[in-house]
Amino acid sequence: MDRRAFFLQAFRNTGEKVVKLCDAKANQQAAHWIRPPYARDELEFLLACTRCGACMEACPHEVIFPLAVRLGITVAGTPALNLLHKGCHLCDGWPCVAACEPGALRKAAEDAEAGLRPFARVHIDTEACLPHQGPECGACEGSCPVPGALVWDLCRPRIDPLHCVGCALCRAACIVQPSAIKVEALARTADVA
Ligand code: SF4
Ligand code: SF4
Repeated sequence: MDRRAFFLQAFRNTGEKVVKLCDAKANQQAAHWIRPPYARDELEFLLACTRCGACMEACPHEVIFPLAVRLGITVAGTPALNLLHKGCHLCDGWPCVAACEPGALRKAAEDAEAGLRPFARVHIDTEACLPHQGPECGACEGSCPVPGALVWDLCRPRIDPLHCVGCALCRAACIVQPSAIKVEALARTADVA
């Protein structure tokens, strides 16, 4: 290998490593918030999002809010879902996605086949959920728009993680205070070679 080829190869290798490290860091950071449906992977998302706010304006349920400046300049103003207080209604036509001109939220052709990728993890705290402790309750029954995601076993609700996408509408319907249904960001593990 001549000197020029050597440096070119070295540059390519270093560049790849830097991108992988940035990707890993972005994904680790992203475990602290929940992006709107069809958000690209975090690093790609951050590069594409112009912080225009169009997705927030388009959301009829006002579920999307801008991340605060204190979280850092790289993410300040980018959109996240407020699933602690509201649920995402998985709207027909995905207004938030349709409003995103730069394509930071993007329904790709492969998504049409694979369906919506989960954007949050939801689970039931059986210590707090009334039917799991004895009293009857059906407050969240019928709240889930995704077939098979919220199932009832012997009058007790259970989340099926194979179907749940994390919309948190069951949490919004829960009458227990604080809610017996917990929602958290999906921890996206770094995949650095
Ligand atoms: S799918 Fe609907 S409710 Fe959910 S974030 Fe998009 S516009 Fe808002
Ligand atoms: S519409 Fe797209 S580019 Fe604009 S803030 Fe939302 S995600 Fe970012």
